[in-house]
Amino acid sequence: MKYYILFGPPGAGKGTQATAMTEKYNLRHISTGELLRKEIAAGSELGKKAKSLIDAGSLVPDEIVEGMIESEFRTVRDVAGFLLDGFPRNTAQARDLDAILAKTGEEVTGVVSLMIPDETIKERIRHRATIEGREDDAREETINNRIVTYHDKTEPLIGYYKDSGKYNEIDGLGTIDEVRSKIFDLMDRF
Ligand code: AMP
Repeated sequence: MKYYILFGPPGAGKGTQATAMTEKYNLRHISTGELLRKEIAAGSELGKKAKSLIDAGSLVPDEIVEGMIESEFRTVRDVAGFLLDGFPRNTAQARDLDAILAKTGEEVTGVVSLMIPDETIKERIRHRATIEGREDDAREETINNRIVTYHDKTEPLIGYYKDSGKYNEIDGLGTIDEVRSKIFDLMDRF
């Protein structure tokens, strides 16, 4: 199995690009944010635990997202690989992912990082709020905390994956088509 990580700040376009990537490369898209929102909508215990943290723009505990990821890895079979979107979100999750994959002698195939500046993050999230109606896109305070959380907790992963030679950065500015074609060029080289 291939294991691709789609990396980038909130609003970088990961969800948008993931759809085209999963179709072209026969991958299963795993968005931990999307899985958590489904748990909240279903009113599950896990969803209840996650909601206040998501509403605050903070990360939910590692074991919650890692449990969801492992269960997808165990149950999904008919694909060439997985496209992880929004996971890992901190260094502990990245190490745990390596350990989970090592159990079956596997490893992360490559990281596709979509980069946009902080000013663009806010513009994109404000725009998305009008389309998707996500609660965590609606409050300025939540958006700001997600940006801070990204810089504090998630950005260090760039160094982590550079050290293993798996990090590849793409300029996330430009039209959806432009960014997609840059991503495909990169994926074809993996
Ligand atoms: P996203 O849809 O990826 O923007 O995620 C929305 C929210 O879900 C984040 O702000 C976090 O609160 C939570 N979340 C998603 N993925 C993770 C993760 N890997 N680790 C911890 N929290 C996460």
